[in-house]
Amino acid sequence: MSTVEEPTGDQTRVVAIDGPAGTGKSSVSRLLADEVGAQYLDTGAMYRAATLAVLRAGIAPNDADAVAELVSGLEIDLRDRDGDTVVLLDDEDVSQAIRGGDVTDAVSAVSANPRVRGQMVDLQRRVAADRLVVVEGRDIGTVVFPDAALKVFLTATPEARAQRRHRQNLAAGRDSDLDEVLASVNRRDHLDSTRAASPLRKADDAIELDTSALTLNEVLAALTGMVETRIGVDR
Ligand code: C5P
Repeated sequence: MSTVEEPTGDQTRVVAIDGPAGTGKSSVSRLLADEVGAQYLDTGAMYRAATLAVLRAGIAPNDADAVAELVSGLEIDLRDRDGDTVVLLDDEDVSQAIRGGDVTDAVSAVSANPRVRGQMVDLQRRVAADRLVVVEGRDIGTVVFPDAALKVFLTATPEARAQRRHRQNLAAGRDSDLDEVLASVNRRDHLDSTRAASPLRKADDAIELDTSALTLNEVLAALTGMVETRIGVDR
């Protein structure tokens, strides 16, 4: 049984951006929110924060009951600080810690847990409904905001996605090996798209955009145009 409530509230100013890892979703969603004066919501950061807590507690990520019980007692909050999202886990700033390889490897198991999803989706709806918001994730257009004003599904070849992640890791000073990144991207996408609870998939009414051969600015321009057409932003 799903614990996810039906969405309520106005979704006419919600922009849903979904797609697999490394399509440029986070970078472009953040810039798009800035460009159109919207709030930005990174839902992957919420699942990552829950996963960090699971690892710190020494719980196996696929121990569904123990994970759900732990996560139900967590306070996860996202704040905007000078255009960056600060992720708070029980009031501790974990924005850096949630990007580590240990969290990345375990996050798909934690986010496949239906009770964890129910909790995160309720939180996402509370934060994002009734305002101009760019919400980025895997199930935003299919489950969280099925009536979003604009739904975009970003794709890119596995090689292009691995290259992007590899460059981001190096830029952030993290160790990175391209072959390992490619294997990890493929593994995570497989888990995310084959899970029973809210698998990663394109909503029927989402616009698909392949970003493999596009620069960030080209993707941004395309999305800004879509928001202006669908929602009509005053700037
Ligand atoms: O976007 P990011 O790579 O930070 O997401 C981390 C993980 O969180 C994904 O691989 C996926 O397992 C999970 N996730 C999800 N639903 C979302 C956002 C992220 O299941 N809406």
